[in-house]
Amino acid sequence: MIAGICATCGLPKELCVCEDLGRETTLLTVDLDTRRYGKAVTVVRGLESRPDEAAKLARELKKGLATGGSGKDGLIVLQGDRRKDVVRLLQQKGYTVR
Ligand SMILES: [Zn+2]
Repeated sequence: MIAGICATCGLPKELCVCEDLGRETTLLTVDLDTRRYGKAVTVVRGLESRPDEAAKLARELKKGLATGGSGKDGLIVLQGDRRKDVVRLLQQKGYTVR
């Protein structure tokens, strides 16, 4: 992939709207999960086919919530039960959350 060029539409990133279009049709789910030692984590699913976007979104959510987490293989995992905050932030960004 060429830096600054969208791999989907071939336009420069500043003109590309693929990500915005994708958001409207992307249905995300936010669930509570329990990891080792009974620690609660908030898991966002629905971006498995777009791992780059998931990684970027994970960074934004970690910053927005001031919490730890990861965005690997399209799966976003955030420390603690932050479901309400995560849903609110995702909706603000234009995602559809179930
Ligand atoms: Zn594009």
